[in-house]
Amino acid sequence: MFSNLQDKLDRAFKVLKGQGNITEINVAETMKEIRKALLDADVNYKTAKTFTDDVKQKALGENVLSSISPGQLLTKIMNDELTSLMGGEVNELDLSKNPTVILIAGLNGAGKTTFTGKLASFLKDKKGKKPLLVAGDVYRPAAIDQLEVLGSQVGVPVYTDRNSTDPIAIAKAGVEEGKRSGHNVIIVDTAGRLAIDEALMNEITAVKDATQPHEILFVVDAMTGQDAVNTAKAFNDRLDFTGVVLTKLDGDTRGGAALSIKSVVNKPIKFIGTGEKMEALDVFYPDRMASRILG
Ligand code: GDP
Repeated sequence: MFSNLQDKLDRAFKVLKGQGNITEINVAETMKEIRKALLDADVNYKTAKTFTDDVKQKALGENVLSSISPGQLLTKIMNDELTSLMGGEVNELDLSKNPTVILIAGLNGAGKTTFTGKLASFLKDKKGKKPLLVAGDVYRPAAIDQLEVLGSQVGVPVYTDRNSTDPIAIAKAGVEEGKRSGHNVIIVDTAGRLAIDEALMNEITAVKDATQPHEILFVVDAMTGQDAVNTAKAFNDRLDFTGVVLTKLDGDTRGGAALSIKSVVNKPIKFIGTGEKMEALDVFYPDRMASRILG
């Protein structure tokens, strides 16, 4: 995003060398540049504005230590501020219930089914859990096949009912089956749509009511920029989800969507997808994403 952030900041503050303080005028100039760069990284306008105003406030009045340049100081302030805006700490899944029911939601193509497989693998291999997957996407028969393939790849069973076209009944039966067969995590994949519509929202809300999930993870493609924020808001209004999964961060996106989504819906980002393979899943670290956004 900032090809030479440090250079840019140092140039903007050259005039301050030896003065020890960051002045209002210089900070304002620099923040304008930073705001532009944030918008380029798909951070939404309101978030970028709030961020730069906060950084400006913090920077003003800070004494510039002789050991670091004003540019370095400002970079540090921005890094800290971005990290705290994105939640500060790692936010883990709550797996305390037995079984823990996890509902996966999002639009078609966001990477839901892929993430469902990745999560099963992560919980089994890294957390020592015994997950069951539930194939709830009845509109795309290929999605059931896809989940079965992923399940067998990662060694996790998949509950399916190819005779049913009722996603609510399937989800409920899947959870019952999981309980009966002693699985301590049940992950329910759901149908998506190409765009948000009333039918999708009504249906997924009904699936939530029927399964009473402990975690609802909203999966969104990080490359969709501003759309990602709007979609997140629409899903959160209806589902009150517990966390966000940002997929496709292996592309050349800077990850500005992470900051916008967190500030618009105020829900933690819990995982990021970094590829198509089952192991391409990472827990979300706010400090690492801050460095990525700052380039
Ligand atoms: P769904 O419709 O939401 O279930 O989406 P899918 O799981 O079928 O994923 C849609 C496409 O995105 C597939 O081709 C996946 O391989 C791909 N995909 C999913 N997650 C990632 C990711 O983190 N990185 C990349 N590069 N591709 C991904």
